[in-house]
Amino acid sequence: MTYPWPSDVTDVVAVRRDLHAHPELGFTEIRTAARVEMALRALGWTIRSGRDVFDATGLPGLPALPVLESAADRALADGVPAELVTRLAGGHTAVIADLVGSRPGPRVALRFDLDALPITETDSADHRPWRHGFASCHAGVMHACGHDGHVAIGLALAAALSTHDFPGSVRMPFQPAEEGVRGATPPQR
Ligand SMILES: [Zn+2]
Repeated sequence: MTYPWPSDVTDVVAVRRDLHAHPELGFTEIRTAARVEMALRALGWTIRSGRDVFDATGLPGLPALPVLESAADRALADGVPAELVTRLAGGHTAVIADLVGSRPGPRVALRFDLDALPITETDSADHRPWRHGFASCHAGVMHACGHDGHVAIGLALAAALSTHDFPGSVRMPFQPAEEGVRGATPPQR
């Protein structure tokens, strides 16, 4: 059983379960970033993503080219639109979303993490994700740090903001490779 991506991202349980079932390691979060981008676009947020806004060149822990290429292939096989895969591939798995409020005010940034960990999820029968059909479908990779819930909360908050009156503006960076503190490292050049 898999949990389909909900039509309404305020269904945080369904979003979290979809993400939990499809964990992706740092710099390979193409499916996750694409889900985020498509959901936020549908909510009316202004999106910049991938190569347009993030340069992974030289970042610590950037996977080898074959790993990055197989991540792109997996995302395509998973139904991610080719245009999005092209923009997000090669380790450029960042999404920055902006929404401007109805009147002047402060700019607030709220950061969310996209990546999972190289941990094998237990197959114990009493493990909740197994009982409810949303255990990791990628061997050796698991959302064991809670970024599945982190992203789900971010999207639900984005949905709430898009239908509420607020001052100022909100920027949501969805960061690749938080684990190991890699994805926000300033370029070493
Ligand atoms: Zn983490």
